[in-house]
Amino acid sequence: MGFQELIGSLADNPYFGAGFGLFGVGAGASMLRKGYSLGLIFFRRHYMTTLEVPCRDQSYKWLLHWITVRGARNTQHLSVETKHQQMESGKVSTKHDFIPSVGEHFFWYNRTWIRVQRTREQSTLDLHMGIPFETVKLTALGKKRDVFYDILEEARELAVSHNEGKTIMYTSHGAEWREFGHPRKPRPLQSVVLDNGVSDRIVSDVREFIDNPEWYTSRGIPYRRGYLLHGPPGCGKTSFITALAGTLKLGICVLNISERGLTDDRLSHLMASVPEDTIILLEDVDAAFVSREETQEVNQAYVGLNRLTFSGLLNCLDGVVSAEARIVFMTTNYPERLDPALIRPGRVDVKEYIGHCTPYQLRTMFSRFYPSAPDLLVHKFTEAVLSLGMCLSPAMIQGHFLIYKLDPQEAIDSLPQLAKPYQAH
Ligand code: ADP
Repeated sequence: MGFQELIGSLADNPYFGAGFGLFGVGAGASMLRKGYSLGLIFFRRHYMTTLEVPCRDQSYKWLLHWITVRGARNTQHLSVETKHQQMESGKVSTKHDFIPSVGEHFFWYNRTWIRVQRTREQSTLDLHMGIPFETVKLTALGKKRDVFYDILEEARELAVSHNEGKTIMYTSHGAEWREFGHPRKPRPLQSVVLDNGVSDRIVSDVREFIDNPEWYTSRGIPYRRGYLLHGPPGCGKTSFITALAGTLKLGICVLNISERGLTDDRLSHLMASVPEDTIILLEDVDAAFVSREETQEVNQAYVGLNRLTFSGLLNCLDGVVSAEARIVFMTTNYPERLDPALIRPGRVDVKEYIGHCTPYQLRTMFSRFYPSAPDLLVHKFTEAVLSLGMCLSPAMIQGHFLIYKLDPQEAIDSLPQLAKPYQAH
């Protein structure tokens, strides 16, 4: 039997013919399926653009907020985020913000549909933040990378406008910076009364530094500047730095270097990831490192325990290099306890003493607090304080004024009360 005849007879065979048909249908379906998934991959690759934002990214919160404000407001699937907001009066109000819940949402943006998928992996915790690991994935039809740039930029602008004119405080949390409390309205710089000219000197130095990046880059000098404010407690070091940040529209990253668990590695990570437009504030730098010799002893005592070393801190301070201005403020009540290496030029470029009230400060504070008091009273007050022969901090004077809020004469007459607690000791 020739080959042709064999094929002919098989084709005539009804059983074989049916099997052949079934086989054909099966193969066809699987090819279709394969074709479909290949097509989908092809389609995704060429006609869809996706953007994935993990919760650790700074833009994650901004993006969720923006999505809620822009489009997903109409969605029925929301989750709630409750915030406590402290007013300047101290009153606490509670605010509920709705954000898109975990799942899928759609919204219309710039003539295109955007799919939002918010996913949460229950089994994975973000180790730094201690919350379930989440991502938001945006998908747009077409090759539209620009849409995502626009969205991220809008989300950032929305967040920035929300905080406009307010000072954001960050504190370190493990190796991350986190916003501390709510952005606050800054305190006017003039409300922190320092000795004549001190405030202007610091402000103009910082401004000059910010305005002249080329001076540094053209000389190959790292673009950073360090300031040390030293003096007794309650004289306005911290208040001044906060008010200065507000005036310059900068945030503040408060770093507590005596915090337990802060290691060289963590500090170096923190320094490298300082948020944009912020001042770094190291408070009470004397507390962490009394002097290098003692630190070495302490280090030896802590062998095996990971902790911040003095040389680690110096390296981090020197390594704070970035394209933008890096401003580091340090405060201490005991400058004599600081290791000279910490405050050498390059690490600390400007040192200012912020001390007890001078006659200039007494006059200014009195007339600010009692704006309608005549000059004679201002003079009487200053003389009366000086005659006490005591060093008084602005914090003490402010506290005294608060007791005699409405009566400047009474504030003068009762000045001896201010001296009493000290005489008792
Ligand atoms: P320091 O950082 O020097 O210890 P703070 O800035 O913490 O002092 O001041 C403590 C309190 O005293 C603040 O509430 C602040 O309002 C007030 N205070 C201190 N110094 C001044 C000042 N020079 N002018 C106005 N208020 C001051």
